[in-house]
Amino acid sequence: MLIPIHAQITRKALEKYFDPKVLNTVIRSNQKQDTLQGQIGHSDFHFDNNKITESQVYLQKQRNAVFTWIEKVDLRSAWMAFGRLLHSAQDLYAHSNYVSLWLGQFDDFGWPSVDEIDPMDDLILSGSKLKSGKLYYPFEILSFVPLIKNFIIPLLPRDSHAWMNLDSPASGKKFAYAFSAAVKRTVVEFDVFREGLTVEKLNLFING
Ligand SMILES: [Zn+2]
Repeated sequence: MLIPIHAQITRKALEKYFDPKVLNTVIRSNQKQDTLQGQIGHSDFHFDNNKITESQVYLQKQRNAVFTWIEKVDLRSAWMAFGRLLHSAQDLYAHSNYVSLWLGQFDDFGWPSVDEIDPMDDLILSGSKLKSGKLYYPFEILSFVPLIKNFIIPLLPRDSHAWMNLDSPASGKKFAYAFSAAVKRTVVEFDVFREGLTVEKLNLFING
């Protein structure tokens, strides 16, 4: 997803639960994953390069880190880990063929409304058909440059990030499904802590 879209998704899902300042800290940590430092050598942060299992492991590490930091009453570290967790969880829908596989159950003229997408379809998540876009560096970098991208993308393979991503509305009509799935998945990830924390600790987590 593009950096501002991560913020939109997170706000849409969580602003009714979190203190605004806390949510801003979570969002800044989420967006930091897309800096150059968070991109190079970190496919697992973004569900890139078919690193599906590695990305799932990374998600679980961040969930564990949130619980650990709350236990130590280091809330800032807990919010940062939660931001990193949400970034990866949201990128799953933008960088993989999840949306295409889910829509594949319906015929082309019978797509359900975007609100109906199930972000936790177990058959898709644990199936062998789930793939994510590969970054064909250095060529791929040019696919992000506005004036030349239209010349570069046709030269890249179909399994590249450039062809597969649903990072913004420019990706076409499947983007709205990726956005909706990412909003729902953000709530699913928050539910892990709503269910796993005591009332007092949950209150610290959401309000500081
Ligand atoms: Zn990303």
